[in-house]
Amino acid sequence: MPELPEVETVARGLQREVAGRRVVSVTLGKTDFMDNPAEMERLLPGAVIRVVERYGKFMLLRLNPAEPGEETALLVHLGMTGMMMPKPAGEPHAKHTHLVALLDDGRELRYVDPRRFGRMAMLSGETLQKELSRFGADPLQVRLEEFLERIRSRKARIKALLLDQSVLRGVGNIYADESLWKAKIHPAQLGARTSLEQTERLYHALQGILEKAIVLRGSSISDFLDADGEPGEYQLHHRVYGREGKACPRCRTKIRRIVVAGRSSYFCPNCQRAPRGRKHAVRTKPVLRRGASKGSAKVAAVKK
Ligand SMILES: [Zn+2]
Repeated sequence: MPELPEVETVARGLQREVAGRRVVSVTLGKTDFMDNPAEMERLLPGAVIRVVERYGKFMLLRLNPAEPGEETALLVHLGMTGMMMPKPAGEPHAKHTHLVALLDDGRELRYVDPRRFGRMAMLSGETLQKELSRFGADPLQVRLEEFLERIRSRKARIKALLLDQSVLRGVGNIYADESLWKAKIHPAQLGARTSLEQTERLYHALQGILEKAIVLRGSSISDFLDADGEPGEYQLHHRVYGREGKACPRCRTKIRRIVVAGRSSYFCPNCQRAPRGRKHAVRTKPVLRRGASKGSAKVAAVKK
């Protein structure tokens, strides 16, 4: 699933390509992943795409509505296989194209999603504010003091805290595992038991990894493409994620995979020592994340 660096990459591409363009008309395909397709058909035509930005793992297309009114935005979650990019109007539509917005420059902004685990919602005024307020701090903007507080005041496992979108918005499985490895913290360690020094290491590791991944336009696993249709390159720099049985780049110990908070977690058992009393693999029940999107249950069910 696209995480912060992948969504940032797509949002920057769309900002470059479609910001300032007016939507002329909208055609929808399958709408079962859309909160309010009728509102999209009503509010998108005539609206100008003011700015495209990332909010956690979502993209926000902030709009100047056709008629003066409340602040309006199209919220887009790419799910596992969603892609959003502009194409010349004459180009044939790819299979699984579910939104086509004709723009005033003759191109079409298209959303393609074979599995439809994504989400799309037209939000205005209070509904928009309410939706955004459900999410925690942005890991690239959060100050060290706030980060320490958010992690160390909680009894949940640190991996679960990193994935909890109400704690930090935008981190998913790949970048959680990579930053815990870099900071030498076991994924099953409790937030409250993490030392100041460890948590500070994690803060810098997470920011450094996210920034590097954005430069490399994200990780392309499960078909991720940016707004120009190009894959990212950060997957070539993964140290533990998806590398079970391979040597840890730091100490050559074999990378292991355990389940923490219902998710696969890759770690080095030598560099990332198990919390006391927990030498073996830890299984915990999946946590229903506050602020999770409608599609999350489906996603959790199919992820390994
Ligand atoms: Zn190691």
